[in-house]
Amino acid sequence: MKRSVRNFIGGSWVDSATGGTFESVNPADTAETVATVAKSSCADVDNAVNAAREAFRRWRLTPAPKRGEILFSAGEILAGRKHELGELLTREMGKVLPEALGDVQEAIDMSYYMAGEGRRLAGETIPSELPDKDCKSVRVPVGVCAIITPWNFPVAIPAWKLMPALVSGNTVVFKPSSYTPACAAMLVGILGEAGLPAGVVNFVNGSGEETGDYLASHDGIDAISFTGSTAVGLGIAKTAAEKGKKVSCEMGGKNAIIIMDDADLALALEGAIWGGFGTSGQRCTSSSRLVVHRAVYDRFLDMFSAAAKKMRLGNGLDGKTDVGPVINAHQMERILKYIGVGTEEGAKLVTGGKACREGVCGRGYFIEPTIFSEVTPEMRIAREEIFGPVVSVIRAEDLDDAIRIVNGTPYGLVSSIYTGDVNKSAIAERELDTGIVYINSSTIGAEVQLPFGGTKRSGFGHEEAGGRGGGLDMFTKWKVVYRDFSGRLQKAQIDR
Ligand code: NAP
Repeated sequence: MKRSVRNFIGGSWVDSATGGTFESVNPADTAETVATVAKSSCADVDNAVNAAREAFRRWRLTPAPKRGEILFSAGEILAGRKHELGELLTREMGKVLPEALGDVQEAIDMSYYMAGEGRRLAGETIPSELPDKDCKSVRVPVGVCAIITPWNFPVAIPAWKLMPALVSGNTVVFKPSSYTPACAAMLVGILGEAGLPAGVVNFVNGSGEETGDYLASHDGIDAISFTGSTAVGLGIAKTAAEKGKKVSCEMGGKNAIIIMDDADLALALEGAIWGGFGTSGQRCTSSSRLVVHRAVYDRFLDMFSAAAKKMRLGNGLDGKTDVGPVINAHQMERILKYIGVGTEEGAKLVTGGKACREGVCGRGYFIEPTIFSEVTPEMRIAREEIFGPVVSVIRAEDLDDAIRIVNGTPYGLVSSIYTGDVNKSAIAERELDTGIVYINSSTIGAEVQLPFGGTKRSGFGHEEAGGRGGGLDMFTKWKVVYRDFSGRLQKAQIDR
């Protein structure tokens, strides 16, 4: 069934000011249009920002535990509609259904987690150096936040941003990816159903270059929370700096798994297949590099290619499918170009390397799971984010060499090491320059109660999600209050 996705402004679903639309299409079957979507103009963004500004006056004064209760209700509704939303997600984005359900589950987890924050949001009380004076710090909302998200986690990533923003008392203008608007609309609808007052979340659709750019630079926006490519993220960070807005950009990755000679190779194989080809390699945390100790390189490569060759491509709603499509024609072309670059650079194509256009793959954007061996760390396929089912296998001499290789790209999102030696795992944990390190586990598996973010070109600004240093730091400012009840002028640092 084709859906109609309208904008959501000031509590009402509305067409765009111009009446223009665009379509979102099933990447596994391009004959299926998933939704016809409102194409926003600058006037729509202006309306959304004005509605958010108006709603901020009341929402910031709503007690945080009450805000949390609404998020808890949203979590309950999401849980009840998990399957429906998961299926829509597979149709619109392509990932296999179990992963789509995991995407929705992350949003449920984040709703409940941030609902609980409504009863915490703690600041500090600290003694004053002067008598009859007290001091405290309190978290206050930043204001109106722009939330701009990619297509690869169309429910989880918006929820990672919306839930901490809302519980902190901010109002929001949310622009999702043009490739997954129907999933985003369902999430917004659920927040409305949960009891969010009109204008607290506003939702505008349209292209990144027009709607996204106009929103990010809008004078009525106080903070921007962006997830997407490094190129776009750095542009947004620049705009934010010029305009004095708070900003957080979660960006690309070139994540790696180290496999040592003492690793459990069967376990490492499962992690490499899951990390390399899960979500068709389209996770910011995908394991696009395997850095393998030379003593087990050949043996592991044989195991890895044999397992990859068995993977079945197809529609993610079919329970037999291991690997779904990539998102669109542009991405498909880009990935195939990178495969050509790998061959030209002298890497050895072990398996895959082509688009699949036969049988169930005939009407979608499918690429075979692809492995390159004999990859050296300087090659472009070892340094640049491909964002598809392409894995480069690199030989390492020893642990130091492996760590040097992993750290040798401009990115720093996730790394992992498989080893049976606790000392090696400790050295890796200390030396790997990434925001997240996994030991004896793939590069995938973040949980909402910890911060999420990368170093170098993978992250700029604040981490996301929960825990100390997570999303609440992005969506709140500290206000410090000194109260002097001495009845006389007291001078800090001077009265001694
Ligand atoms: P993208 O092209 O950068 O787009 C991300 C979002 O920004 C979309 O909503 C897009 O709108 C919008 N946008 C594009 N150009 C813009 C501009 N000039 N101003 C404002 N907004 C703009 O990224 P993507 O292809 O959707 O996602 C894949 C990338 O996201 C990969 O690099 C991946 O590593 C990264 N990612 C990072 C994380 C993380 O947590 N670090 C998580 C997931 C994904 P349109 O859709 O309309 O173009």
